[in-house]
Amino acid sequence: MLAFCSNDYLGLANHPVLIEALAEGARRFGVGSGASHLISGHTRAHAQLEDELADRLAPCIPGAQALSFCTGYMANLALLTTLGDASATIFADKLNHASLVDGALLAQAPLQRYAHGRLDVLAGQLGRCQTPVKLIVTDAVFSMDGDLADLPALLSLAEEHDAWLFIDDAHGFGVLGERGRGTLSHFGLNSERLIYMATLGKAVGVGGAFVAAHPVVIDTLVQSARSYIYTTAAPPALAHAASASLRLIASDEGEAQRVQLRQSITTLRRGLSALLEDSPRHDWRLADSGTAIQALIVGDNDAALSLAATLDARDLWVPAIRPPTVPVGSARLRITLSAAHTRDDVNALTDALAQVAKGER
Ligand SMILES: *Cc1c(COP(=O)(O)O)cnc(C)c1O
Repeated sequence: MLAFCSNDYLGLANHPVLIEALAEGARRFGVGSGASHLISGHTRAHAQLEDELADRLAPCIPGAQALSFCTGYMANLALLTTLGDASATIFADKLNHASLVDGALLAQAPLQRYAHGRLDVLAGQLGRCQTPVKLIVTDAVFSMDGDLADLPALLSLAEEHDAWLFIDDAHGFGVLGERGRGTLSHFGLNSERLIYMATLGKAVGVGGAFVAAHPVVIDTLVQSARSYIYTTAAPPALAHAASASLRLIASDEGEAQRVQLRQSITTLRRGLSALLEDSPRHDWRLADSGTAIQALIVGDNDAALSLAATLDARDLWVPAIRPPTVPVGSARLRITLSAAHTRDDVNALTDALAQVAKGER
């Protein structure tokens, strides 16, 4: 099958350098970490990875420190339950990732959600808020539509209302910004009130996640975040492989992979736009996205499933994403591109969709 559904955006998950780094990490550190971070599971490999991640984010968050987690889901639970205590209010975009929603539901802080991208609504909510701590939470690249949050405007609001701004950059880290530094770098942001989370299982090609933030935030997580404290540290070999991946991402090879990915995004969007012009399908809509996540919204669940099945029969693997993952009536094909796709791969997908649109099978 030709897959258009992996988050391995730079094609690093199978890279020989990472495979070798994982094997070398296992030889040096063994396989299991053996304990939680605060007992004896925190190894030199974890510490080195955290230093490198802090360095990568330092141009965007002055004095940033980083803390590694087993998964992004756990990092989001940690941050939201720890900063979202009874003295806080959490403000969240309605299209945020499920892990951010779950973190907010577990937190003691009340949750206020604003309609997707409606910063005017958010501004009103912030203006009425009485709690001393305010935490704005948003995906940087929205995971089902691929659009970017307006981070500069969100940061202005955070400054105006003395709020923290927590960014989940699962789909931007490694891909966007200077040398893949992520979406904060893409927008040229720099502030101590930014709190940053990204996973290491998507563009980084390994697994795990991290939070980078002001040392006060990191200290608070180490002292109180239950999904950091009460779980076995990830295998050190994974941290070792992630460090190798960070070096690759920052290298000229990583830069070339980002260029290749951007070309595939352009090719796909051109192909799909031409298709929608030639054979208009009133029910199909290409979401407005410049990232590796491209959504062809078809609306009806059965239509999305049948389209996915037609592609499947041609060995093209594109998942049909349906409610409750996306709002009712917006079922879609969620196409994700990778630097590992060739132009022919992308054309194979647009050709197959063109045939369906014209009613051919
Ligand atoms: C994938 C994802 C996560 C979860 O990260 P894992 O490391 O897979 O647990 C969190 N937020 C967003 C936006 C994601 O896409």
